[in-house]
Amino acid sequence: MSEHSHEEHDHDHGHDHDHLHADGTRHSHTHGHARHSHSMATHHYDMPDLPTQVDIFDTILRDGSQQEGLSLTVDDKIRVAEQLDRLGVAYIEGGWPGANPTDTEFFKRFKDELTLSTSTLVAFGSTRRAGATAEGDAVLRHLIEADTEVVCIVAKSWDRHVDEALKTSLDEAVAMVEDSIKFLTSHDKRVFLDAEHFFDGYRENPEFAVRVLHAAEQAGAEALVLCDTNGGSLPGDITETVLAVRSAIPDTGLGIHCHNDAGVAVANSLAAVAAGVTQLQGCINGYGERTGNADLSAAIPDLSLKLNIRTIPMDRLELLTPVAHHIAELVNKTPSPQQPYVGSSVFAHKAGLHASAIAKSKDLYEHIDPSLVGNATRVVVSDKAGRATLQMKAAEVGIELSDEAIKSILDDLKRLEHEGYHYEVADGSLELLLRRATGWEPKYFHVESFRVITNHEGDEAGAVTTEATVKVQVGEKHLEATAAGNGPVNALDAALRSCIGDSFLALNHIRLTDYRVRVLNTGSGTGAVTRVLIDSDNGTRTWTTIGVSENIIEASWQALYDSIVYGLLHATSDTN
Ligand SMILES: [Zn+2]
Repeated sequence: MSEHSHEEHDHDHGHDHDHLHADGTRHSHTHGHARHSHSMATHHYDMPDLPTQVDIFDTILRDGSQQEGLSLTVDDKIRVAEQLDRLGVAYIEGGWPGANPTDTEFFKRFKDELTLSTSTLVAFGSTRRAGATAEGDAVLRHLIEADTEVVCIVAKSWDRHVDEALKTSLDEAVAMVEDSIKFLTSHDKRVFLDAEHFFDGYRENPEFAVRVLHAAEQAGAEALVLCDTNGGSLPGDITETVLAVRSAIPDTGLGIHCHNDAGVAVANSLAAVAAGVTQLQGCINGYGERTGNADLSAAIPDLSLKLNIRTIPMDRLELLTPVAHHIAELVNKTPSPQQPYVGSSVFAHKAGLHASAIAKSKDLYEHIDPSLVGNATRVVVSDKAGRATLQMKAAEVGIELSDEAIKSILDDLKRLEHEGYHYEVADGSLELLLRRATGWEPKYFHVESFRVITNHEGDEAGAVTTEATVKVQVGEKHLEATAAGNGPVNALDAALRSCIGDSFLALNHIRLTDYRVRVLNTGSGTGAVTRVLIDSDNGTRTWTTIGVSENIIEASWQALYDSIVYGLLHATSDTN
């Protein structure tokens, strides 16, 4: 599997094929003919054996936070780094010391506030400026002061960027790489070089692109990271270029850094590994500017489970889903249900006719055992569900349903879905419905009443204020609280928490992450109703609850109530 024979490789590339050039033109060429005027070699490369290990380098704290709408405080960065360390990535890029106050403060505080057991922290910067010395360079001085064992510096490897952005000569660009790395290694730093725009640069001027790498190698860089900065390369380009670089530079470790602009960042990263790179840069959840960086939540299990390559410690792979969700929570992004391996829908089955087959042989319908990455099979239940589907769902949540209970649930589902409920997308409320059919009732608290007032006065900023009052009974105690919020749901949530927060400390971990409203014409003769869905998270699991009513506040309250009850129900089984 891991070794391709020469003949096979020749066969793959032995026919005429088209290449799209950087200027957008296409032309045909035949195998064996030099593709570039400066071509380093013909296409005769043996695929190497797959590496036994690939170092995972997460760049969410630097490149990943370039994503629109993503902004991290120093505290956020420390907490994200703790999660990455818990998962066991080899390197965490912490930011660019000196470039902005947050990153500068992060590097001041990490020594006291961040304890890493598995990962190594990396400070990021660039080479010295053109026409200056390394010793006098502020960026390099900040890198030394950041006091990390490893630094990663970016250098131009596309000749046109040297001409047009740096406005200096190619010789000076190479000298900038050399001087900077020598300076950093003389201060006992381990240095990684990010060769920016490497693949575009290699397409146009491979000689210069490789010259930059050679200079970095000779100056003492430990890893040369080939960056597809514009994200436009395809796996075939990556394979060919990495193989060529590897044969030109056989003795220094190579890395890959891909952006997802062509939708293939993970595929490109895997292609690079197959061609011999041993460091993979990307982000958990694929954060990053434009379409993002390579999604490590997919690349890690691809490498470890499918290709048998060591990435993070094997016994931590099951932390992948919880860590991916926890990081999403920390950066305030709703996790995508369709995200490979870690999304909530990726092992969800609308059982229907296949229910019994899925129950017997899950592997007929799932590409891996979801528990390997900390995810789980989920049965999706709608009003079209049958007995077998309901039984599977009950087994999934750990309850037993009698024939009688199943019949009453099927009747309830038909009626409720007709009213506008949609349990397929509200697994939290569905579980409560199933449990109630067994005679269970939540005993945490009893709601006596709630009231919401929104006041609009004048037209200044802050003219609209909302407050909610909630009265509940917990045990023998009658409790009442009033709280303000930025809207009715937020105010109700705050008032309820202020009533019962002292009784249920687990509430501190339960967070509402998304709120969606749809107005429906149900056709049931009652006119329009409002359907509210609330997503919640406790750092270990996420759940969705639903409310339906002609009144938007009442619909929101139902969804909120279910969310809190579900969260409390699972508070004891989730450790956090
Ligand atoms: Zn990047």
